[in-house]
Amino acid sequence: MTARLVCLPGDGIGPEVLNAALRVLEAVSYHFNLDVVTEHAEIGGAAIDACGTPLPNKTAALCEQADAILLGAVGGPKWNALKAEKRPERGLLDLRYRLNLFGNLRPIHPVPGTTQSSPIQPEILDGVDMLIVRELSSGIYFGERVYQPTFAYDTAAYTADEISRVVRLAARFAQQRHCSLTLVDKANVLATSRLWRNVATRIMKAEFPEVALDCMLVDAAAMQIISNPSRFDVIVTDNLFGDILSDSAAVLTGSLGLLPSASLSEAKAALYEPVHGSAPDLAGRQCANPVGMIRSVALMLRYSLNAPDAASSLEEAVNSVLRDGPRTPDLAGKGESVTTTDELADHIINQFRSKKDVRTPAHAPGTDTQ
Ligand code: NAD
Repeated sequence: MTARLVCLPGDGIGPEVLNAALRVLEAVSYHFNLDVVTEHAEIGGAAIDACGTPLPNKTAALCEQADAILLGAVGGPKWNALKAEKRPERGLLDLRYRLNLFGNLRPIHPVPGTTQSSPIQPEILDGVDMLIVRELSSGIYFGERVYQPTFAYDTAAYTADEISRVVRLAARFAQQRHCSLTLVDKANVLATSRLWRNVATRIMKAEFPEVALDCMLVDAAAMQIISNPSRFDVIVTDNLFGDILSDSAAVLTGSLGLLPSASLSEAKAALYEPVHGSAPDLAGRQCANPVGMIRSVALMLRYSLNAPDAASSLEEAVNSVLRDGPRTPDLAGKGESVTTTDELADHIINQFRSKKDVRTPAHAPGTDTQ
């Protein structure tokens, strides 16, 4: 069966990391006989420049028909003066909402070769393997907001149904892992958090009795993620807390450029993107780390293309290159030579092929690493 993949490069380093990841995908697809067709479309600042809107109807329609979507990143200083509803980031928020992408998976698993770039002591990083499941299509990012020069407010609202579906998603992942789920909230202050706690407790007791649920206030969780990260298996939390906690958890891995994400819905549509933004400071310089994007491709292979073996082989190749080098500037040690975005992708492709009895196509990507 042919898988239809829509590629949204976006802005800043988005096109560079997506291009590198697509070359890796081509090599993996070839080896595993996966039939993938790709179409490109505009989103974010690139779409504003081309069509005057951050999410053109044509892009949204293509995404609605796709088996999976790969997105680079959106945003940048060029569009900073625009009002919130016209900005590049709005295009991504609207796409998540339109496709009902309610469950955002952010796996965090430091690997040897990257942790020396983390400010956290190595013994604290030992055994860290957590999955943050962030609610993505509701909460304060989608509530009513008002901004006036001397007065402003944002609204956070959740229904029990919105909470239930993401709690069930997280619980199913916990079942396949170490049967431990932590709900992060602010139930001592916020009404929405109290609803999260009540709904999660009821569902876990009735439907997932084998999964242990603990509830933790977000301030304590922020501290524990840095000081005792190996205590976590699966974390489930709302949109705002999930956004902040997953970025701070990136510190554990050594670089924000390493982290992938998958955004799932109840239908077939799923979107895969690195956790990082458009990094305008790096754009156009071939120095961005493409691993977050490449690992997002691995998640896509696993969750949308039903190719778990291809996903695992790709992840092994990535980990092996991260361990042995070469490295992009975000991970390179003092005096260590650095590699470019495209070269790192080539090394991953070559590593992937070296572990396989691989058929190499004529004009294979990744064979030239000069
Ligand atoms: P950012 O993630 O773009 O950058 C934060 C820091 O991490 C920077 O120092 C950057 O150089 C570094 N970094 C990010 N990705 C990297 C990579 N692949 N390799 C090496 N280093 C990397 O966050 P920011 O600077 O706060 O935001 C920049 C723009 O991106 C803003 O317009 C913001 O709104 C947007 N943004 C978009 C998304 C998205 O598209 N999903 C997410 C976050 C921020």
